[in-house]
Amino acid sequence: MTTLGILGGGQLGRMLALAAAPLGVHVRVWDPDPHCSASRAAEIFARPLDAAHAGEFAAGLAACTYEFEHIPHAVVEALERAGVPLRPAELAFAAKHDRLREKELLTSLAIPTAPFAAVDDLAQLHGAVERMGLPMVLKSRRGGYDGKGQAVVRDAAGIAAGLAKAGGRDVLAEAFIPFAREVSLVAARGVDGAFAAFPLVENVHRDGILRLTTAPAARPLQASAESLMRRLMDHLAYVGVLAIEFFEVDGALMVNEFAPRVHNSGHWTIEGAETSQFAQHVRAVCGLPLGSPTSRGHSAMLNYIGTEADRAAVLAVPGAQLHSYGKGERARRKLGHITVRCDVASERDALAARLDPLAPWA
Ligand code: AMP
Repeated sequence: MTTLGILGGGQLGRMLALAAAPLGVHVRVWDPDPHCSASRAAEIFARPLDAAHAGEFAAGLAACTYEFEHIPHAVVEALERAGVPLRPAELAFAAKHDRLREKELLTSLAIPTAPFAAVDDLAQLHGAVERMGLPMVLKSRRGGYDGKGQAVVRDAAGIAAGLAKAGGRDVLAEAFIPFAREVSLVAARGVDGAFAAFPLVENVHRDGILRLTTAPAARPLQASAESLMRRLMDHLAYVGVLAIEFFEVDGALMVNEFAPRVHNSGHWTIEGAETSQFAQHVRAVCGLPLGSPTSRGHSAMLNYIGTEADRAAVLAVPGAQLHSYGKGERARRKLGHITVRCDVASERDALAARLDPLAPWA
């Protein structure tokens, strides 16, 4: 039996563990909370995430991966000392500790992204507004996710309040991109460099949180999305699943951000693709052959946020598949997702019909 370590026991760790089991891969999750979402699906190593415990966690692991980016460097070093390969390697998430470094990395690879500036005070922000114009999006460089620590400045009167909302300093100012839609690509790279990309999908966000993904989308942009993905993956010598979120503007792609892990916009693959993103990631990081990323018809996935879904009501909707994460209710918290699927393109309208009764959770 191969044992895979996963840092983080949220829903991503849980779905990775569920996908690993049929591949003969046992999962040990490192999460300080013994009742974390992954606890119903995996062995939990419930210690604080610090280097002192890494040796014990690492015992017998074939490889280690993670479901979040904020892994202390000392833990990475301790895993290395224990001889356990971390996949994807630290280079893949180092840039994610700071949005500015992420943007600089993308720019250095000539990957198109919104114009940006680092801002630490009001004078610098006024300078950025002069150069880049309004509206502008302000994001805290560290620790923000799902729209937290973000502000849109629409006019001169909103500049000071926007800066305060984004934390006042250590802010990334980005030109506001009037995108036609948001799409994302989830792909995998194996230990041997093998590459497999899922179809590009379309995403709808509300209040900075992903609400709806439809797959597949934007076939004409697939090739250019894959070429940007390969450039980033090759640079990072990447092993595992990587997601890139794009803005589609005037028929071209601009990168918003990337995530060095399985991604919410790939959850539809559990039912909607030959291989799910979770199984694909486990295959990649365990050095196994990648699976086919081909989609099975058309899928739509919606996240439900804050309030647990009515299980019986959801399951009464034809074709609806429920994925509850077993987490407590809390405002803005992702508690689960629901996927509906149709087999052929001609049934695509049926997806909308299947989503209709799910409106209470959308
Ligand atoms: P992020 O946390 O960077 O993924 O941003 C969350 C959401 O805010 C994105 O999915 C977009 O809907 C929106 N957003 C972020 N950056 C920009 C931008 N530069 N221009 C327009 N909308 C943006």
